[in-house]
Amino acid sequence: MSERFIFTRYHTRCYRCGEVADQIIKAVSAQAQVVCSACGATRIFIPRFENTGISGISTPIGRYDLWSIEADGYCKHCAVTGPHDLAIGSGHFTTRCRNCGYTHFYRLNLEYIAQCPIDDEGEVSAPPSP
Ligand SMILES: [Zn+2]
Ligand SMILES: [Zn+2]
Repeated sequence: MSERFIFTRYHTRCYRCGEVADQIIKAVSAQAQVVCSACGATRIFIPRFENTGISGISTPIGRYDLWSIEADGYCKHCAVTGPHDLAIGSGHFTTRCRNCGYTHFYRLNLEYIAQCPIDDEGEVSAPPSP
């Protein structure tokens, strides 16, 4: 994830641990993620489609509150670094360039807790020595 796009924080109540804590939000064109700074709960979103010229974002109501966030990002479409409107819900994540209207749509791909990440890489770590 060397590409720089969106990197911001949103202070709100975590849907999982219930703490009011910074939720760290990162997005590049290939992936977006939201990580709770208190419990480490992570949500990974993958792109669904991209579009231009959409005047509004219709958003189904999910299980959690919808977050409306403004964050600076670099738009690859108009090549301007400026404000983007982020809309993050339980199952989707969208970013929209305020300059040209270019929109990324992501959908929820997986959800895990950082303390016990999904490990299906086949990598077995050595047991701790006594
Ligand atoms: Zn949390
Ligand atoms: Zn743009």
